[in-house]
Amino acid sequence: MTAESGTAAAQSTRAADLSRALADLSARIDAACRAAGRDPGGVRLLPVTKFFPASDIEILYRLGRRDFGESREQEAAAKVASLGHLSQIRWHMIGRLQRNKAKSVARWAHTVYSVDSDRLATTLDAAAGLALQAGQREAPLRVLLQVSLDSDPSRGGVAPADLPALADLVARAENLQLAGLMAIPPLDRDPEPEFARLADLHADLLTRHAEATELSAGMSGDLEAAIRHGSTCVRVGTALMGARPITSG
Ligand SMILES: *Cc1c(COP(=O)(O)O)cnc(C)c1O
Repeated sequence: MTAESGTAAAQSTRAADLSRALADLSARIDAACRAAGRDPGGVRLLPVTKFFPASDIEILYRLGRRDFGESREQEAAAKVASLGHLSQIRWHMIGRLQRNKAKSVARWAHTVYSVDSDRLATTLDAAAGLALQAGQREAPLRVLLQVSLDSDPSRGGVAPADLPALADLVARAENLQLAGLMAIPPLDRDPEPEFARLADLHADLLTRHAEATELSAGMSGDLEAAIRHGSTCVRVGTALMGARPITSG
């Protein structure tokens, strides 16, 4: 924390800003649900706090938030360590995950949103098993499968054709719990048909894995379209926290 952001005055300004942004965002999500004929209780907001300091998470915790999304393992692990006193936090790993980070993530993450290969799933299963044995977690690791909507492997995500086999593997894994799907639509395309396609893939998954009810779609710029297409969890950074200092990741 810098000296400036640590001053009481700066913190209370930040608290007022975050409180207002949270109210605006909740109203926006409610309006999107009403427009889509959906119950607002069926869409959760996951605040994405990557690149923002732990002090912001403390403020949001005091405002009643318990779930936080992070996308970079090292940054997240540091925040987890410094916020241990906020005992009810659930941490969500939403970013791409390298297998060599699985051990750490399995210790702190409530849910991982970016599982896109058999190898990653198998590694996470083993890591979650170790964390359970060591008493570092109390429940299996919830897993969302990240689907690629543009067949560009560099952006992560499993190809739709490979989704059923990966879902079966995760559902069988002893220390993982298959919770649903996640996707990020390609930046250069109209998100509407992409979310429609994702909803079809989710419906198909549900016929074989009824427990996989979560559909995490929608961010600051496209949450209305995602809610129209059945999102149960919007992951919102910018519209809540403000602009990030850097945009990658
Ligand atoms: C950063 C990030 C978000 C939030 O994006 P905003 O456009 O800032 O709301 C959502 N999902 C993932 C996977 C992210 O990495």
